[in-house]
Amino acid sequence: MQYLIESRRARPGDDPIFALNTEAKQRAAAGQDVINATIGALLTDDGQLAVMPSVVQALAEVPAQLAAGYAPIAGRPDYRKAVIDDLLGPHGMADLAANVATPGGTGALRMAIDDFSEPGQKVLTSSFFWGPYRTLSSESGRELTTFNMFDEQGRFDTADLDRALGEILEEQKRALLILNTPCHNPTGYSLDQQEWDGIVDVIEKHGSKGPIVVLLDVAYGYYQPEGMELCLTNLRRLLGKALVCFAWSASKTFLQYGLRIGSLVAVTPDEEERTKIANAMTYSCRGIWSNCNAGGMVAVTRVLTEPELREQSKVERAEHATTLTRRVARWNELATQAGLGYPRYNGGFFTTVFSDRAQEVAAALREQGIFLVPLGKALRVAMCAVNEEQIARIVQGLKSTL
Ligand code: PLP
Repeated sequence: MQYLIESRRARPGDDPIFALNTEAKQRAAAGQDVINATIGALLTDDGQLAVMPSVVQALAEVPAQLAAGYAPIAGRPDYRKAVIDDLLGPHGMADLAANVATPGGTGALRMAIDDFSEPGQKVLTSSFFWGPYRTLSSESGRELTTFNMFDEQGRFDTADLDRALGEILEEQKRALLILNTPCHNPTGYSLDQQEWDGIVDVIEKHGSKGPIVVLLDVAYGYYQPEGMELCLTNLRRLLGKALVCFAWSASKTFLQYGLRIGSLVAVTPDEEERTKIANAMTYSCRGIWSNCNAGGMVAVTRVLTEPELREQSKVERAEHATTLTRRVARWNELATQAGLGYPRYNGGFFTTVFSDRAQEVAAALREQGIFLVPLGKALRVAMCAVNEEQIARIVQGLKSTL
């Protein structure tokens, strides 16, 4: 008897990245010398999961009955305000925003797809993208489509964005564009001012053809404040011309991946539209996951708003960011010497090495105990998970295998 509906019968049960991570861990547990550069969680140089003590403390202090109770459907009001103030306050946009709590950035992405594209429509992102964008789109009955991410100079391909956005608007009279910057996953790329100028021009050019929603996935934003600043100042220029949304996440920001705390933030100066968006998002909360982790929201709110905890968390994150910066510098030095092809990389959890034989290269490296993630014509290296010595071995392995 075939109980599953046809469109879901051939679905793989394993997420490919989690599957590789499991294999790497099993081989390490069996005593093999393994470098596991698959998963996007920040590890210390000695391979322990990095945590922020300020956040751990705030979580431990959550009153039992607050943690045990249901949170409001849209999320705790103090939490929602804390996220908006932190993200948009310094840019004078806090009063123009509506948001709800979501289970991580993933929940925010899922909800944006549901609320800002029609069933069956295309959702647009760059040709290198975080794999779950496709899963989330297909799960919601949408189709992910892409524009070419890098031009021949290795810079963000604004001309292809222009083409793809024009085609989508022509076809479906509305567009949802997902951009992930700074510290794009999987490439590590962060947009510069000139690239932002190009993007803003393209969106302004197409703005009259139909509603455009620009969803910024800022999962890694707190690890590159300059990149985040560029993101916010440039998106501000789009207010009134497009709906600007953010998928905000506590997962990397506070090194609490399991807490499942995030927020979908929508920014528009149109008050009536903002109210309708807030209502629709709240309805979606109830219809997708009901409500989010109450204790997690209490703790994250404290870390975002109490001066001492907030300061402590910034110092702790800066220490981790420094570790990452050292790794990125080491990678840039060695990978350049080895002649590896990869995009501009100046910070963040990942980089990506171009290869037409990515699957084959990844398989050969696994034989050597080096686990990278093959993605189309590239291999993703999780710099967040490896120390400088391991980086040297990865570069050496890539150089001899590519
Ligand atoms: N966006 C990107 C690009 C990511 O890499 C991730 C996590 O790996 C997320 C969003 C969402 O993570 P979470 O749902 O844990 O917030």
